[in-house]
Amino acid sequence: MNIILFGPPGAGKGTQAKLVCNKFELDHISTGDILRNEISKSSKLGLAAKEIIDSGYLVSDEIIIDIIKIRLSENKKNNTNFLLDGFPRSINQANLLSKIMSELEIDLNAAILIDVEQPVLINRILNRKNTEGRIDDSEEVLASRLKVYYDQTAPLIQFYKDLNLLKWVNGVGEINDINQQINSIMEQL
Ligand code: AMP
Repeated sequence: MNIILFGPPGAGKGTQAKLVCNKFELDHISTGDILRNEISKSSKLGLAAKEIIDSGYLVSDEIIIDIIKIRLSENKKNNTNFLLDGFPRSINQANLLSKIMSELEIDLNAAILIDVEQPVLINRILNRKNTEGRIDDSEEVLASRLKVYYDQTAPLIQFYKDLNLLKWVNGVGEINDINQQINSIMEQL
């Protein structure tokens, strides 16, 4: 099973991705985590991406696509299924993903949306800022990230609906309840 988990910043994608990947033995591919790791190593890629990430905008498709291509090719070679967390984030990235997957002859089984309305997101992220200390969780940067999500990422809802791959999860509630919703979707795939 190869799946996409998406939703606005603060929807709980990272938390749910970890739980689902453990249960279903999927490779957790979080482009945000990969980029933050590159920043902590001060690699060339990390240095190029830092300013953009700190200001809440998207890094270039070229950077992201290279990361994805390498990781999906490895998964194909090892026969490992995966969960994409934080990618794709635009229609262009979704089209590039389709191309990569068809070249590798692998299928996408579902795009799961964790849906949370905006006021809840703002509260959650401002709380996370205190616990995780991410620069991009500040109030100013959050406004850019939400705008980027609604302008560029939310169109993926219709994109995956049209492909009959969209699954909807209510992301407001207890972590366990949200996890149950995702597990039952996974079990039906
Ligand atoms: P996340 O941890 O998924 O919220 O990602 C943190 C930041 O990393 C985002 O605000 C973007 O700046 C960058 N990023 C992560 N994934 C992508 C992507 N697929 N395309 C472009 N930028 C990304």
